[in-house]
Amino acid sequence: MNLILLGPPGAGKGTQAKILEQRFGLVQVSTGDMLRAEVKSGSAIGLEAKAIMERGALVPDSIITAMIASRVKQPDAAKGFILDGFPRTAPQAAALDEMLRENGMVLDHVIELKVDDAALVERISGRFTCGKCGEGYHDHFKQPKVAGVCDVCGGTEFTRRADDKAETVGARLAAYHSQTAPLLPYYAAQGKLRSVDGMADMSDVTIALTRILSPTA
Ligand code: ADP
Ligand code: ZN
Repeated sequence: MNLILLGPPGAGKGTQAKILEQRFGLVQVSTGDMLRAEVKSGSAIGLEAKAIMERGALVPDSIITAMIASRVKQPDAAKGFILDGFPRTAPQAAALDEMLRENGMVLDHVIELKVDDAALVERISGRFTCGKCGEGYHDHFKQPKVAGVCDVCGGTEFTRRADDKAETVGARLAAYHSQTAPLLPYYAAQGKLRSVDGMADMSDVTIALTRILSPTA
C-alpha cells in the first residue's frame, strides 16, 4: 500500500506517518527529513537547500524528484510507503505519477489533513524535538514530564528547526496555499482523495486514518 499524506506544515503528517509506519508495516518517506539530513551532512544538495528552507520557500522540483526517484526504488520501500511532504507542487505530482508507472507501483490513497492556519502557526512555533531519539514536544501542548528530560530516552538536549520561527511559518503557509493546495483537486479527479480533520486529537486522527487504510477494522 502506497499513500500520500497531504496537508500544510504543522498538520501532523510526520507524527501520523510514524504511527502508520509501525501499524501497517510501511516506510515513511519525508522529503523534509531527507533534506535536513543533506543540510546536516554538508552535501551539495544540502548547501543549496539550506537557505531556501530557512526562508520557508520550496526547494527546486528537480532536486526533490531525483531524491524521491532513488528512494522509492530502495528495497524497504517495496513494503509500501507513506509520502510525507511530497509531492508539493504540480510538477512533482506529475513526476510521481510517471515514477509510479515506470516502477509498476500504484498509489492507493491520498489523505488530506485539514487544519486552520491560525492553529498551524501556534503548533509550529512551539514545537521542539529530542536531539537523541527524535520524540516531538510542544511548549503548550506536550512538555516532557520532567522539565528538560526526554520521556522516551532520558535525553537532555532538544532541538528546534531553523524554519519553525514565527517569521518563516507565514512563508511556508503561503507556499502551501499557492503551490501545494492545487494538488487536492488533482487527486480528487483521480478518485483518490480523502480528507481527515487534523484539528481533532492526535489519537482521533490516527483512528480516522486507520479506518481509511483498513476499511473493515
Ligand atoms: P513542513 O511540512 O512542516 O513545512 P517539511 O519538513 O516537510 O516541513 O519541509 C521543510 C522544508 O523543506 C520546506 O519548507 C521546503 O523548503 C523543503 N521541502 C520539503 N519537501 C519539499 C518538496 N517536496 N518540495 C520542495 N521543497 C521541499
Ligand atoms: Zn529522546
